[in-house]
Amino acid sequence: MKNTAPEHAPLLQFPVHDHCLYLGGMPLTRLVERVGSTPFYAYDREKITERVALLRHYLPKGLLLHYAMKANPMPALVQHLANMVDGIDVASIGEMKVALDTPLTPDKISFAGPGKRMQELRSAIAAGVTINIESEQELKTVVDLGDQLGFTPSIAIRVNPDFELKSSGMKMGGGAKPFGIDVERVPQVLKYAIALGIDFVGLHIFSGSQNLNVAAIQEAQLKTLQLGIRLAEYAPSSMRLFNIGGGFGVPYFPGEKRLNLVEIGENLQPMLDAFQSQLPETRVALELGRYIVAEAGIYVCRVLECKESRGKTFLITDGGMHHHLAASGNLGQVIRKNFPVVLGNKVKDSEKEQVSIVGPLCTPLDLLADDISLPKVDVGDLVVILQSGAYGLSASPSQFLNHPLPEEVLV
Ligand SMILES: *Cc1c(COP(=O)(O)O)cnc(C)c1O
Repeated sequence: MKNTAPEHAPLLQFPVHDHCLYLGGMPLTRLVERVGSTPFYAYDREKITERVALLRHYLPKGLLLHYAMKANPMPALVQHLANMVDGIDVASIGEMKVALDTPLTPDKISFAGPGKRMQELRSAIAAGVTINIESEQELKTVVDLGDQLGFTPSIAIRVNPDFELKSSGMKMGGGAKPFGIDVERVPQVLKYAIALGIDFVGLHIFSGSQNLNVAAIQEAQLKTLQLGIRLAEYAPSSMRLFNIGGGFGVPYFPGEKRLNLVEIGENLQPMLDAFQSQLPETRVALELGRYIVAEAGIYVCRVLECKESRGKTFLITDGGMHHHLAASGNLGQVIRKNFPVVLGNKVKDSEKEQVSIVGPLCTPLDLLADDISLPKVDVGDLVVILQSGAYGLSASPSQFLNHPLPEEVLV
């Protein structure tokens, strides 16, 4: 089938009526009035619910599903997800506070990340959340703080495995890494933990992010589960939880396809069965951030000016890289590619023009889309960046040039 413009139309999951994008059952033009100003991020709660339902449907029964809050820490969105997932993974005291405000009990919250500060560890111990230990030094600190405070810390060991998640956008395990304890040191560390009588929850392995390759995900899952069985032999008590990470990606760029969840689920089932036959008391958790929220979110900004310069048309908008670093190509991309963009109030207009979309910052880095085809644009039109529900505002340098912060709404 011929790919008709907008180039990324297949990624457009939201309904369109009378050329206007709808989100949460509301036309975008009305949502703009409700929010009161542009730019803003909007997240569709129904899309998030659907995504969790899909995961529950296609992945093996009994597999726990955790939300990694780093992908989108908006409190209302986290509250919404807390009613649907089995746990929340946090990576700072700020995220921990948001997770503790949800109805989830502290034993369903885990706290990972290198460089946890003393106060963060004290709060985590007092709260009773599971601390995912990232180094031997951190384990000692946690044990000492537990003694001082008079509470027993609950800990899981994050393991830096001896394999990587291949074809991953970002590798976070295998080789030399600041994350987790190298697998070859883990038996010794577990022996030390036994001697101290801490509350041992289990193990955590997270090897990478933004992966769209089913074979690579399967290979990492198999190796992870096998490693879990091997390491469980050294565990001080039966392991309650084995967090196998996630890394499921979403399509952003032309040619990228959504992951086949059916295939992932069908392949994971026998691996999980084999694991559970060895370790029947251990619950296995998948931890996902981006996959749950990315496709449910949009970033909306307004065209302030259509500027011609030597034959090129620039749409100058009130939004930019300070709110959406990823769309500008500056969040870890090696080669800049355009996020999928539509004109929210003229989605299916047929007359087209070639444009570049820039923000108000005084830097050439502030580029939201380079040389794309859009319907004929006027000042006041609404530029919508799709696939923006993860690593959006919280992953952007919002203080840069001191423009006002955008709103965030859950619709
Ligand atoms: C970032 C991170 C995640 C989430 O990754 P996604 O690609 O958003 O799914 C999960 N676990 C840990 C430990 C992380 O650091």
